[in-house]
Amino acid sequence: MISKTKISIIGAGMVGSTTAFALMMSDLSLEIALIDINRTKAQGDAADMMHGAAFLPSSEIFAGDYTDCRDSEIIIITAGVPQKPNESRIDTFRRNREIFTRIIGDIVKNSSHQPIILVVSNPVDLLTYLAYELSGFRRNRIIGSGTLLDSSRFKYLIGKQTNVDPKSLHAYIIGEHGDSSVAIWSKTSIAGMRLDQYGSKHQLFDGQLRKKISDEVKEAAYRVIEMKGATYYAIALSTRRIVECILRDDRSILPVSCVLTGEYGIQDIAISLPAVIGKNGIEDILPVEYDAEEAAMLKASAENLKRILRS
Ligand code: NAD
Repeated sequence: MISKTKISIIGAGMVGSTTAFALMMSDLSLEIALIDINRTKAQGDAADMMHGAAFLPSSEIFAGDYTDCRDSEIIIITAGVPQKPNESRIDTFRRNREIFTRIIGDIVKNSSHQPIILVVSNPVDLLTYLAYELSGFRRNRIIGSGTLLDSSRFKYLIGKQTNVDPKSLHAYIIGEHGDSSVAIWSKTSIAGMRLDQYGSKHQLFDGQLRKKISDEVKEAAYRVIEMKGATYYAIALSTRRIVECILRDDRSILPVSCVLTGEYGIQDIAISLPAVIGKNGIEDILPVEYDAEEAAMLKASAENLKRILRS
């Protein structure tokens, strides 16, 4: 019998349960505890997913409790209240901070080792930093899903414009997962060609088109929330990608929210930068040279988050 790796997901709402479903469809052999204050919902989702087990690789999903954190390699936090239409991230932070403080307390009480905490709840950068402060865990053990989702949206939109597979693009969004995120146009490339070289033969990526795409990335979540009340499919796939990198020690480079201690002159906050993700969590944060405007926007994004944290 193959031994399974245990993961806990705290919050079995739309994001948590869809993440469990995405993980169940990967080839990782997992034991997934769904932990929610609404235990009946967690039980219902676990049963519903397990009823499809005959069609998939072997993972086991069940409704658990905080004692499941004891032998979990990764604890994914998706609990909390989602952002309401037109609600600012500051207001969502106020509503989620209390819930989060209790959750981190329960994780720490029930963990004899330092599992990797993967924060997805919003505002993800602020809650990632709170998880670091409250848990006392090493900073490489705390990851926020950050701008991995924004970067995926960015690649999707550039891919649509260029008619190139988004997986063949190098394109990153860094900074806050939210309104002050920064699109890194200076390093965006297709087969090693900068976008302006590519654009000279194909679609010209002038300032207007760049702004349109950057704005569309920033507004993407708001648009989906307006249409259906929540976003959960793409974030579930982003979260699965981070989990795969950790458990397979892939050492892939993903833009995720990392606790900074002076990188780019930024500290005492978590914000997204391209990082090497492997079995220890954040293995390295890459010192990419951004152009002056992007570097200034990154600093402003960090300052913006710090202001909210202090308030
Ligand atoms: P949801 O309301 O469907 O689910 C939240 C779940 O958390 C509920 O089942 C609720 O019972 C549970 N919960 C609340 N307090 C709890 C506690 N103390 N312990 C355990 N469970 C608790 O919301 P959702 O749509 O799944 O969104 C969840 C979070 O994910 C929100 O903060 C949302 O903004 C965030 N989100 C983040 C991203 C991202 O890119 N980082 C994308 C989408 C959603």
